[in-house]
Amino acid sequence: MRGCSENELIQICQELGLKRFRAIQLFQWVQQKAVTTWEEMKNIGERDRHALRSRLTFNSLEKVREQRSKDGTRKYLFRLDDGETIECVLMDYARTTSRDRHTVCVSTQVGCAVGCAFCATGLEGFRRNLSVGEIVGQVLDITHYVRQEDPDFQVTNIVFMGMGEPLLNYDQVLPAIQLLNQGQGLNIGMRRMTISTSGVVPQILQLAKDNPQVGLAVSLHAAQDEVRNDLIPMNRRYPLIQLMEACREYTQITHRRITFEVALTSKNAKREEAEALVRLLKGQFGHVNLIPINSVAGTGMERPDPELMSKFAQVLEDAGISVSSREERGADIDAACGQLRRQWEGEL
Ligand code: SAH
Ligand code: SF4
Repeated sequence: MRGCSENELIQICQELGLKRFRAIQLFQWVQQKAVTTWEEMKNIGERDRHALRSRLTFNSLEKVREQRSKDGTRKYLFRLDDGETIECVLMDYARTTSRDRHTVCVSTQVGCAVGCAFCATGLEGFRRNLSVGEIVGQVLDITHYVRQEDPDFQVTNIVFMGMGEPLLNYDQVLPAIQLLNQGQGLNIGMRRMTISTSGVVPQILQLAKDNPQVGLAVSLHAAQDEVRNDLIPMNRRYPLIQLMEACREYTQITHRRITFEVALTSKNAKREEAEALVRLLKGQFGHVNLIPINSVAGTGMERPDPELMSKFAQVLEDAGISVSSREERGADIDAACGQLRRQWEGEL
């Protein structure tokens, strides 16, 4: 039911012989008020509720774990109907500097087929795609849980940066974005949602046409194919020349600035790498976000010295590239994608 659009609910109500306004009430209870039981739907009578129950189920996610960081980040491990688990992170909660901004980082797949060398999710391999209801459900359940303590809580921003490659689950991610954007639902602006991709070229172009409003982040991490091939196997299929061309086309169509993500390790935080990046990004309408790598056991990658990171940033800035360094969030709770699931499975 959490994956149903208003029109789909109207259709179901019609089939059940219920009035159209019931569908709108139902949509609001599920998508806006984020309730998790039928009993909470106060304005829907017992008889109609019974009829709806025969056709629709909630599919709430079961909260297996919640970790709270000192900085306000909260990380959730949810169990799905088939027993698989996914992670989801709420950032910026209870931060005095950004009181009005609450960002949820959602997962789009169980595991990931891309298999990046530094990523805990990639190490696990691909299990399955998430459904529209499971993607939207993460935001709804977090809203539900936080509202138990803070009734006015609203998620304001979404990043598709949890487990999985969103553009390899395009057919579910796109309708999920539509649902999260609904005025009768959570009403999250298209421009407040960002898809992060390891570089699935055809879907980058498709996204530009289908939804030019939503933000795009490209996980670049290296400016040379030899290096990027080893970090992100997707690069062999769509090498940098194709990826950069797709990015140019994307900005031509959407007029939106792309965020290029660059994870720095003790090995790549070097002047030569920064200079290669400057050459690669020439002519792109973009912004670089530097991320200190989160070391994941088994990957052999370590964080760089903070001083090396600022030198790296300086090279980009001197070349006129807009650059920011990602603030560390939830470092004390292993907030990097895939880490909680691995840790939890390791305990079983
Ligand atoms: N699959 C998509 C989105 C999910 S990953 C993608 O790869 O873009 C979200 C971001 O986290 C990506 O930029 C990814 O490169 C980064 N990431 C994954 N593992 C990381 C780690 N151990 N340390 C730092 N960033 C990591
Ligand atoms: Fe998949 Fe992204 Fe992890 Fe790479 S970084 S394995 S694309 S989730």
